[in-house]
Amino acid sequence: MIIVLKQGTSEEERQDLCTWLEKFGVETNPIIGEHTSIIGLVGDTSVLDIDQISQHTIVEKVMKVAEPYKRANRKFHPEDSIIKVGQVEIGGPEIALIAGPCSVESQEQITGIAQAVRQSGAAMLRGGAFKPRTSPYSFQGLKAEGLMYMRHAREVSGLPLVSEITNPSQIEMFEEFVDVFQVGTRNMQNFEMLKLLGQTRKPILLKRGFANTIEELLMSAEYIMSGGNDQVILCERGIRTFETATRNTLDISAVPVLKRLSHLPVIVDPSHAGGQAWLVPALSRAAVAAGADGLIIEVHNDPPHALSDGQQSLTPAAFDSLVKDLRRVAAAVDREI
Ligand code: PEP
Ligand code: MN
Repeated sequence: MIIVLKQGTSEEERQDLCTWLEKFGVETNPIIGEHTSIIGLVGDTSVLDIDQISQHTIVEKVMKVAEPYKRANRKFHPEDSIIKVGQVEIGGPEIALIAGPCSVESQEQITGIAQAVRQSGAAMLRGGAFKPRTSPYSFQGLKAEGLMYMRHAREVSGLPLVSEITNPSQIEMFEEFVDVFQVGTRNMQNFEMLKLLGQTRKPILLKRGFANTIEELLMSAEYIMSGGNDQVILCERGIRTFETATRNTLDISAVPVLKRLSHLPVIVDPSHAGGQAWLVPALSRAAVAAGADGLIIEVHNDPPHALSDGQQSLTPAAFDSLVKDLRRVAAAVDREI
């Protein structure tokens, strides 16, 4: 971090500022010029608050030269993190496919889909029990009952479970029922929930907010990791742009960018990005080719009658043929499914 001082700053004022900064454990290196003087800061500057420093009367401007996230940063952890969920590893040579319905609708529905996607090669089962819907009049999910049906589907299929948590009050219930907590796009910056999830010991699938930058996503991962849980899986699920032809715009470049900036595994959700089933295969192939460590795909036994997101859900048969295509793309980039 570099602090540019205002012209006319006295030596005493500069020294006072340095003394204050050093209290945060950083080293200060003043460079005194004829017209402009700066202070270079070395050490863990993530503890510093830029707005607070800018308020000092002698400060002209403050410039960041290092990323504000540390635990999620590849600089301090050069090797890829591999996150284990039962027998499944995310972030290693194998690409993990997470498949299942947007919403759990009945025990028969989730169990049938679990068996089908497992046959096709899925490594985990997704299913929403608490649904964050845009309209309060839309189906809100089966809640605890849905989680119970998912648990039955796990017993039958052996697939670990991923489900979205929408409120910190659900943490205890999720600890008991699911293998991976999903934090949805609308909760990516629910900092109080992220802090509490940092105290849990299960992997967190953290979806990028639809209007959030890559750095903001990494700062949200940092919230969870700084609480003590470093098992974070990042997920690109499409962002809002001016384009209306698709539900969201899949930011495919987020995959290589995140992999470069962070050691955490990165997965892609082509279903919520494209918003239409016919787009899912192309977006999935693109994600695997771009280096994604996994995909989370909506699969429904009867998409036209789904209680949520039927238009973007694949049938089990379509998922099966997609997995076959993805195996060829994975092989081309030295990965396996
Ligand atoms: C979901 O996975 O069903 C979901 C609601 O996703 P997102 O948070 O990405 O919209
Ligand atoms: Mn959905």
